[in-house]
Amino acid sequence: MDFKPYIRVIPDFPQPGIRFKDITTLLKNPTVYQAAIDELKALVKHLEIDLIAGPEARGFVVGAPLALALGVGFVPIRKSGKLPGETVEAAYDLEYGKDRLAVHKDAISPGQKVLIADDLLATGGTIATTINLINQLGGEVIGAAFLIELGYLDGREKLGDIEIASLVTY
Ligand code: 5GP
Repeated sequence: MDFKPYIRVIPDFPQPGIRFKDITTLLKNPTVYQAAIDELKALVKHLEIDLIAGPEARGFVVGAPLALALGVGFVPIRKSGKLPGETVEAAYDLEYGKDRLAVHKDAISPGQKVLIADDLLATGGTIATTINLINQLGGEVIGAAFLIELGYLDGREKLGDIEIASLVTY
């Protein structure tokens, strides 16, 4: 399916010069949202996946339904200070801004195979940091799945030798 018509591009958000890919226009259409999850599932189902990890907040709206579709659990990756239990943390740069991400220490067991899911791959900073967190817990990142990939930012090159699935490329 061609998902591009359902993604709204908003110029100069959140900063001048950024052309923000707004997925809320896709999410509100249940047929298209379901088709996106189905297509991502088809792209990754050959992988042996124990868990899906998704960074807040849009990683949740892709990662959680994909986890249920694949019959595996979901691990939230959150901004520092949001998770109630013991965490490990890592700092990261965004396409715009800086932040820290965290995951519960007991969320992933050593040797578990993890697929990362998010709405959009830009510079790859968010996913590189998510990989760092999963590796700190002994998990093995085997792939990453996105609705959107900004090909011109070369985010793939930051992610090493993992399988990358995306539905729409700009
Ligand atoms: P990266 O770390 O790869 O540079 O940026 C990706 C992260 O920033 C993702 O978590 C994504 O949600 C957010 N992001 C950056 N640019 C956009 C955009 O244009 N649209 C959306 N929906 N998210 C974006």
